Amino acid sequence: MGFSEIIGQDRALELLRRLWINQRHPSFILFLGPEGVGRRWAATFYAQALLCPSPDAQEGGCGHCDSCRRVFRGSHPDFCLINFSYQKAVLDKPASNLSLGIDTFRQAVSALRRTPVMARRSIALVDGAELLTPEAQVSLLKVLEEAPRHLHWLWVANSEDSLLETVVSRANFKIFFKPLDAEALAGILKEKFLLDPERAGRLARSSSGSLQAARRLLEKKGISAGLGNQATVRSASEVYEISQRLARFRSYKAARGQVQEFLDEIHSDYLERWREEATPRNLRRLRSILEARQNLDANLTPSLVLEYLLLELSDR
Ligand SMILES: [Zn+2]
Repeated sequence: MGFSEIIGQDRALELLRRLWINQRHPSFILFLGPEGVGRRWAATFYAQALLCPSPDAQEGGCGHCDSCRRVFRGSHPDFCLINFSYQKAVLDKPASNLSLGIDTFRQAVSALRRTPVMARRSIALVDGAELLTPEAQVSLLKVLEEAPRHLHWLWVANSEDSLLETVVSRANFKIFFKPLDAEALAGILKEKFLLDPERAGRLARSSSGSLQAARRLLEKKGISAGLGNQATVRSASEVYEISQRLARFRSYKAARGQVQEFLDEIHSDYLERWREEATPRNLRRLRSILEARQNLDANLTPSLVLEYLLLELSDR
């Protein structure tokens, strides 16, 4: 766990490590580079490190304490991931899907301005900072002047050019990420998607150094094709355990938010299981949970989503 999970970005990793080891934590850092090369991962690991109660001197966050897990799933009280899902959750009125507006930004600021609850710091991670409206970007300048020192801003963006110059000039630190080289990308694909070396290499070469692009290509071709025909073992006890956890929603009146939280919870459990044991079965289950989450976001009835998920999980 920790910083060494950032693959194929030696220079960025070195900078991040140096920042961590020196324990000088700037209040505004830019993570810059194309999509799908590890920028958000790096920012998340850094946030984990800053909030973890027992971090490693070299590696940052321990990765498995309550705090680290909460950062990972986005439920840490002192951590705010600002993206479209956040915008949708905090605004009463329908929000634009094209930009992150000033109201969203203000919500995050007011939530984080108070004294941190679990840690000594608060962190706002903006994923896709180029999507912030100019108005929202400019308001950061004011926040930086007024905000308490415990608040740290991590902005993930495509490039400096996609942000306002005045904002870029206020950044205390910039970390640049480059497209992954084909070898590093193939390595990730082999490990995370269980592809054979030849297929991983081919896919890596047609993905312009972006894991995101590789993932899209895989999905287009039907990701299951990559998993081969390995037989999957169905574990009765595991299915039982999930159905027990689902049982508390059996009244079918569970609020959408509660179900979302539940799905995020089991998603993070399964992600961990998959990291420990990257079997096709674990990957399928992880995907079923993600699908359930998407269906819920697409406004399907929570009870239906849960029923379907249970079926999926017990069948495979
Ligand atoms: Zn930790």
